[in-house]
Amino acid sequence: MNEKILIVEDEESMARFIELELVHEGYRADKTGDGRSALEMAAGSDYDLILLDIMLPGINGIEVLRRLQHTQAPPVILLTARDAVMDKVAGLDAGAVDYITKPFAIEELLARIRVALKLHSRMQAAAAPAPSATENRTGSGPSVPAVSEEGEYYWGELHLSEKKHQVTYGSEEILLTNREFLMLRTLLANQDIVLTRDTLLEKVCGYDYVGETNVVDVYIRFLRSKIDEVYHVKMIQTVRGVGYVIKSE
Ligand code: CA
Repeated sequence: MNEKILIVEDEESMARFIELELVHEGYRADKTGDGRSALEMAAGSDYDLILLDIMLPGINGIEVLRRLQHTQAPPVILLTARDAVMDKVAGLDAGAVDYITKPFAIEELLARIRVALKLHSRMQAAAAPAPSATENRTGSGPSVPAVSEEGEYYWGELHLSEKKHQVTYGSEEILLTNREFLMLRTLLANQDIVLTRDTLLEKVCGYDYVGETNVVDVYIRFLRSKIDEVYHVKMIQTVRGVGYVIKSE
C-alpha cells in the first residue's frame, strides 16, 4: 500500500499530524498550505487522493475543488471546521466524495480515506447496471434496453456518454458534477426499474458510505433543476416510499 495523498491544510500542526499518520499507515504524503500551490501540485503529480481543507487563505477549498473538476482529479475528501450543512452540500456538489468535520479522530479519517480509494478504483473499473432481482419493476413486459452502444445512454433528447463524460439535451451540453453524473447514469442504465435510495447511495457513494440517505434526495433535486426544470420534462419520477425511476420513453 503506497498510494499518494496530497494534504491541503494551512494549519501547519494539523497538516503535520495528518502527514505523520498517513506515512505511518504506509501512504506517501505531500502537503501544502494554500489553494494555488495545491492546484499546481495536483496538476503536476499523480495523486490518488486529496485531503482538502475548506478554509484556506487565497483560493478557498470549494474553489480549489471546482477548478479540480475540470481535470482528471483524484477523489477529494474535504476537511471542514464548520459543521454547516451548506458547506457539505456545496462541497459534495462541487465534486468532493466525502467530508470530515474537525476535530476528528484519526481512525475515522483513515477509514474514510480507505473507502474513497476503494470507491475510486471501483468507479474506474466502470460500474455495471444494478442487479434487478431485488428491485421493483414498474410496467409490464421486458424493459427497453437503454443502451445502444456500451456507455451511451438515451432518454428522449437526452444523451449521456460515459466515454466523453458528457451529457447533452438536444444540442446543448448539461454540466453535471461527478456525483450528479453518476446518479443520472445509474438511473439511465436501469430505466423502468425503481431504484431505492439505498441502492442509489450505494451506486453513487459506495457500499461503505457513512452518511445520510437524504444525500440522494439532494442530488435528485440538483438533477431536476438542471434537466427537468430547464427542458420542461418529467424525467426523474419519485415513487413514494420506494425511491426514484426514469421510465423509458
Ligand atoms: Ca484552514
